Amino acid sequence: MKQIAIIGSGPAGCYLADCLLRLMPDASIDIFERLPVPFGLVRYGVAPDHQGTKAVARVLDRVLSRDRVSFFGNVEVGRDLKLEELMLLYDAVALATGAARDRRLNIAGEELPGVLGSGAFTGWYNGHPDSHPLAIQGVRSAVVIGNGNVAIDVARILAKSATELAGSDLSPEVTAWLETQPIESIHVVGRRSAADAKFTPHELAELGTLQRACPMVQDSTALAGNNGIVETLRSFAQNKSRRASVMIYFHFNLTPIAFLGNGRLSAVQFRSADGALSEIPAQLAITCIGYETRPCCTATPANGVFANEEGKIKDRLYVVGWAKRGPSGTIPTNRTEAQQVAQKIAEEVPDRVRPGRTGVLPLLAQRQICWTDYAAWRRIDAAEVARAGDGRCREKFTAVTKMLEAAQVGQSLSCPSATA
Ligand code: NAP
Repeated sequence: MKQIAIIGSGPAGCYLADCLLRLMPDASIDIFERLPVPFGLVRYGVAPDHQGTKAVARVLDRVLSRDRVSFFGNVEVGRDLKLEELMLLYDAVALATGAARDRRLNIAGEELPGVLGSGAFTGWYNGHPDSHPLAIQGVRSAVVIGNGNVAIDVARILAKSATELAGSDLSPEVTAWLETQPIESIHVVGRRSAADAKFTPHELAELGTLQRACPMVQDSTALAGNNGIVETLRSFAQNKSRRASVMIYFHFNLTPIAFLGNGRLSAVQFRSADGALSEIPAQLAITCIGYETRPCCTATPANGVFANEEGKIKDRLYVVGWAKRGPSGTIPTNRTEAQQVAQKIAEEVPDRVRPGRTGVLPLLAQRQICWTDYAAWRRIDAAEVARAGDGRCREKFTAVTKMLEAAQVGQSLSCPSATA
């Protein structure tokens, strides 16, 4: 049996495992995940009101349930195991660690309370254990910087009414925060033209269907060009006379210059193409300008990704997903890419017997790492669904300790304390 380790259980890691199962009938695959729960960006990036998109988790779950796949949740490579150890224990190792760090604008005022990166904001509304409660209150105006689909997600979550958010897996705390903000305007600001925006037509058009919000483009001269995005924005521009309790304003050709405020954000300053400066008052600003990959032990990213040649970093070390190509593409992009990288792994992995999980299990036991296997994840999953009250499909545990309690790992073989 060839032994393969994958670090990260998001869509990139799970699709890679799925392809490897097909291409390598003699492979055993161990997936290491730093959280006790799998699915990465599907669980913590995809917006909570897009449960249809999140449903891909069922496909990824089937991969984890396969006989030749083992899930090792709550095991962080870098904290509990070293990458170098995995390289010794496995025939091939693949990094599927995503891009967890917000890119920064590096402009004045970025540290002000009220200024957040989209990773911090989407992590918060998706209940990521590393996220912090949003301390900011009294948001009447929000500025969303960036013209990609994450900017649309953020604007939509801020704009939707409580009724529209029903059925999501937003936590009661996040729902309460959203309900108590007196939001009147959301400004989505791009540094380039409308024709250059990276929104997809379906996501953009959804903003035109919201109950209490109305999208609008005040400066219709910004709408040069002829693509699906510009067409949709033109239809928004015709909303000029319509008033709604929340207005979503699109602005183009404005480069962010500074976040202004004394102790907390009060406005964002922009420069237009002709050099003119302008300000948009705001109590909340979210930068949706992409993400960077974090280092993984001795593997260090350059320009936000791990340098690679078609998925290969070096002999027996591979990379997939956003850690490979940067933060672009949709979930199915990972499936196509995984197929290519799996092919490479299947062709290149040498016929050499390494111990794989029989080598890793004693290390985890020695280090007293309480890890979650697939059955433990399913117990967390069931507990989250069971505790969801009216109006939500799931209530996530937002603390690792609560996840481990629900996983009952103390009673399973995966916890060394139970076997001691
Ligand atoms: P994105 O599509 O790359 O958009 C990033 C935006 O940030 C661009 O408008 C970019 O402008 C702008 N930007 C970058 N650096 C900037 C700077 N220094 N100052 C001002 N603006 C800056 O990235 P994303 O929205 O984070 O999305 C990531 C990926 O996830 C995308 O492939 C997206 O389609 C996907 N996604 C899909 C969905 C969905 O299908 N529902 C939902 C969410 C995300 P420039 O174009 O000028 O660089």
